[in-house]
Amino acid sequence: MKINILVVDDDRDMRKLLENYLKRLEVEQIHFTDTAQKTYQLLNLNDLKTDPSVDLIILDIILGEENGIKICKKIKSNPAYQEVPIIMITAQKESGYLKDAFAAGAMDYLKKPIKKIEFMARINSAIILRKETKARIAREKELLKLSEELKKANQKLEKMALVDGLTGISNRRLFDKTIKKELKRARRKNNDLSLIMIDIDNFKEYNDTYGHQQGDQCLKEVASVLDKKTKRAADFAARYGGEEFAVILPDTAKDGALKIAEDIRKGIMDLKIEHKNSNTSEYVTVSLGVSSIKAEKEIDQHLIRSLIEQADQALYQAKENGKNQIVYKNFE
Ligand code: GH3
Ligand code: MG
Ligand code: MG
Repeated sequence: MKINILVVDDDRDMRKLLENYLKRLEVEQIHFTDTAQKTYQLLNLNDLKTDPSVDLIILDIILGEENGIKICKKIKSNPAYQEVPIIMITAQKESGYLKDAFAAGAMDYLKKPIKKIEFMARINSAIILRKETKARIAREKELLKLSEELKKANQKLEKMALVDGLTGISNRRLFDKTIKKELKRARRKNNDLSLIMIDIDNFKEYNDTYGHQQGDQCLKEVASVLDKKTKRAADFAARYGGEEFAVILPDTAKDGALKIAEDIRKGIMDLKIEHKNSNTSEYVTVSLGVSSIKAEKEIDQHLIRSLIEQADQALYQAKENGKNQIVYKNFE
């Protein structure tokens, strides 16, 4: 690990002496400054997001007219330097300032005249401390990166758990959540809500004729029509199961729902997916059951189930009536 040191001292002889000592330690670079301004510039203190450019600062407590404690405070006010140790150099007569120096964030101090053994020992422990801190910060960064990656992966998984693997539209689980949420909203706002249940006609025959893989392809195309025909932001289409789909239309009453149902029916006919053994049409068709509700009662599982049942009964009626059509059933 590379360690850079900054010596801030206006005394040329002192700088020379410290350089001599520091050169014997395992350090990459030794910088020198002799004024506050040059120090701030070298440390890039105006940038709050900077990485610290040095790992240890040796700071004279008085530089001519300038106050080392003020410089120390200013350095420590930048978050990047919070964990960079600062060692103050004081003359005997300045020891009264030490309390202020520690309050300003200094870690240690050395008294002039500098004794080589003491200097080397203290700087060495500061370097060891800094290396440990650096390693810890790197580990924390790595951990943060990993936890962000994990979060993203989890979000992806959560999304996957709500999407139908074959068709890419919402799945039954998300349908269950959405119908509950939208019914509650409809009740709060005193709005209508419509539900369309859609079932592909003669789909067993389709599979038998064209194979299961072709059947899957057909399901995908039908789903993409639903996706296209549910245009408003709150409209919601899902694969309900097998070859059955459901569309939730918030803030939509009977007429609007019937219009969209017809749009869907026609859109699927327009795909012109060949179905030569269908007794309904030469192409793949769907039957649709529609029901609307103005939610006045408390929204509970029972109400949700009966709304779905109404739309299902309408769908059954559409099948009975000869398929490829829409039947509406009032919610009772
Ligand atoms: P109806 O017109 O009355 O709806 O008859 P149908 O043949 O469409 O309905 P039935 O419920 O008898 O058959 C549904 C078929 O849908 C049977 C099943 O194999 C097929 N199916 C369900 N899920 C899938 C799937 O994921 N892929 C494929 N290829 N077929 C599926
Ligand atoms: Mg079915
Ligand atoms: Mg069917």
